[in-house]
Amino acid sequence: MDAARNLAYLISAVFFIFGLKGLSSPRTARRGNLLAVIGMAIAIFVTLLDKQIIDFTFIIVGIIVGSAIGAITARRVQMTAMPQMVAIFNGFGGGASALVALAEYNRFLATPRLDIVVTIVLSVFVGALTLTGSFIAFAKLQDLMKGTPIVFKFQQALNALLGVVFLVLAGIFVWNFSNVTALLLILVIASALGVLLVIPIGSADMPVVICLLNSYSGIAAAMTGFVLSNVVLIVSGALVGASGLILTHIMCVAMNRSLPNVVFGAVGVGGYGAAATGEKRYVTEYTEEDAAMMLEDAQSVIIIPGYGLAVAQAQFALHEMAQMLIDRGTTVRYAVHPVAGRMPGHMNVLLAEANVPYDLLLDLDEINDDFQHTDVALIIGANDVINPAARTEKDSPLYGMPILNADQAQTVIICKRSLSPGFSGVDNELFYDQKTMMIFGDGKASVQELVNLIKG
Ligand code: NDP
Repeated sequence: MDAARNLAYLISAVFFIFGLKGLSSPRTARRGNLLAVIGMAIAIFVTLLDKQIIDFTFIIVGIIVGSAIGAITARRVQMTAMPQMVAIFNGFGGGASALVALAEYNRFLATPRLDIVVTIVLSVFVGALTLTGSFIAFAKLQDLMKGTPIVFKFQQALNALLGVVFLVLAGIFVWNFSNVTALLLILVIASALGVLLVIPIGSADMPVVICLLNSYSGIAAAMTGFVLSNVVLIVSGALVGASGLILTHIMCVAMNRSLPNVVFGAVGVGGYGAAATGEKRYVTEYTEEDAAMMLEDAQSVIIIPGYGLAVAQAQFALHEMAQMLIDRGTTVRYAVHPVAGRMPGHMNVLLAEANVPYDLLLDLDEINDDFQHTDVALIIGANDVINPAARTEKDSPLYGMPILNADQAQTVIICKRSLSPGFSGVDNELFYDQKTMMIFGDGKASVQELVNLIKG
């Protein structure tokens, strides 16, 4: 029976691996997701056949309630609020791992084993840290907390002290497994560290934090897999942990930051630019008619989508407009910044939804040198990813992040509702540039108007 169960677990692990492989490209992402769902269904079904389960009541109630909450929230959540949902799910994953490890503590009390003791400590520590850290990330993304870093004197020293206390408590617990106080104190310290490690991280660095917390939730699950001696939990936890770390690395590279700099740097603590100082500046407002004329005359156009495109749901109108320009002989491409929007791959998903051909989507490295030879850079709801402060302003939280070189195009058209800054809170010099045409209004309404004008 054990062999059959392990074989089924192995099959579900293979589904997870192929599922992850599928998720690495927008073309195969749906199939990848489906494969991962099948893998998870096999894993759950086989686990439920375990003879040690004597009563299914709580399990069935849990499955019904959990599935209902998951399905309803996933259907209702706006695409733009996806990072918050991912943050919450990461947190619950970590919390569940910590709770299972705590529950297993009793089972091993009479017959402690070193490997189990160590993995219980790690599950509780990483799981609780992930839970509270994820809730802070959620609060920042949901605007329940200010996005600017929260720092105070001796913060790093306090974190280091808590780290040392954790190590001492872990040593005490491993030495004397019956010392439940040490385990509960580890839970408290981990929860405090989760909060303390995320509050000094500014909004602009949230993509890295989400990926890191995602990885932590996987590590906590893998540790709990060891506690339960459950192969599929170890494998799936390790896969989430490893893929989360790879994504963290990709996001760090995209933002040109080292991980220690994101986690300990408190970048952007004082706020920056006019948005922070309240200084008033002025721009010239153009109309959609001006922009349509510019687009019709252009030979080459690069479209830069950003978070505002997702808010406005302008992707369908944008695709229609781009297709009309292409039909007129204009070279049109889309420049996709790796952190545009609010989750990795956000713009790719959005544009794929509108059936924009994949070969028109180019990433930063592929397209950045072409802006200087381009007539129009058309920016729809993007801000931080085109902000030149990232190149020049050392005090800016964006400093060092590679940006799309929109400012090098002959003309820049920016469609957004106001002069308000992007997610990082940094004012954007490009709005005030002489070659920039600001079109104020909702992204969808503006693009729809451009479609009508170009049609006309
Ligand atoms: P930004 O958040 O910098 O800017 C978006 C702009 O869209 C805003 O300035 C806003 O201006 C405009 N906007 C909002 N609603 C509308 C609308 N209905 N119509 C038109 N415009 C609208 O977006 P970017 O994509 O440039 O940058 C992403 C930012 O998010 C980066 O700082 C990144 O670090 C961060 N982030 C990214 C994550 C990821 O994984 N991709 C995760 C978490 C954060 P206005 O209000 O004036 O309209």
